[in-house]
Amino acid sequence: MISFRNASLSFGEKKVLDNFSLDIEASGATCFSGPSGSGKTTLFRVIAGLIPLQGGDFSSPYKKPALMFQEDRLLPWLTALQNVSAVLPEGDTASALRWLDEVGLKNERGAYPSELSGGMRRRLALARALAYGGDLLLLDEPFKGLDKALVLQMASIITSQSAPSLIVTHSADEIELLGGRAVYFEGPPLRVISEFPHRAP
Ligand code: ADP
Ligand code: MG
Repeated sequence: MISFRNASLSFGEKKVLDNFSLDIEASGATCFSGPSGSGKTTLFRVIAGLIPLQGGDFSSPYKKPALMFQEDRLLPWLTALQNVSAVLPEGDTASALRWLDEVGLKNERGAYPSELSGGMRRRLALARALAYGGDLLLLDEPFKGLDKALVLQMASIITSQSAPSLIVTHSADEIELLGGRAVYFEGPPLRVISEFPHRAP
């Protein structure tokens, strides 16, 4: 269980988490939905261990979370294949190629991020996050810039992973495709407005 208890976190004057509490039993896919600026990415960064809380408690049983950043964060000086290889053991090119194939980018293996379309870069970022072999997948707007057919394909890849995933998406269609489990937020400061399915208090 991922657990926030009375968590607080501010950027300057801006309170993003203020007495925030949430329990997430991650299994399969759980979507995070909420307006831009509400604090979803900040929540992901705490869960990924990238930023500490300033107050309250956070606990998570996951030792190796994989984060797919909202803004790709690909390494521009590396090819698609090298970007995926970077998270794999040295020399495991076969696995890197398999992940590129999985997201439909095998033919782009030699291309640099600047030579790829926005949707291709998104898929490359997803391939890299999955290749990392995390025990929890944190996917921040993974479908941004993808057309319907690709969203379907990527959603099925995500739901077929054995590691549970948390996925930021604003789209009701995408939540449905991912199985319908969702937490709906408002903010900042971030607060839960509803959870589906509803959880007993
Ligand atoms: P979301 O992902 O829901 O759009 P974010 O977590 O990115 O929201 O941001 C929540 C709020 O915190 C926003 O108002 C944003 O401007 C602010 N914020 C996020 N990261 C930083 C930062 N590193 N420095 C200053 N303000 C930040
Ligand atoms: Mg965000």
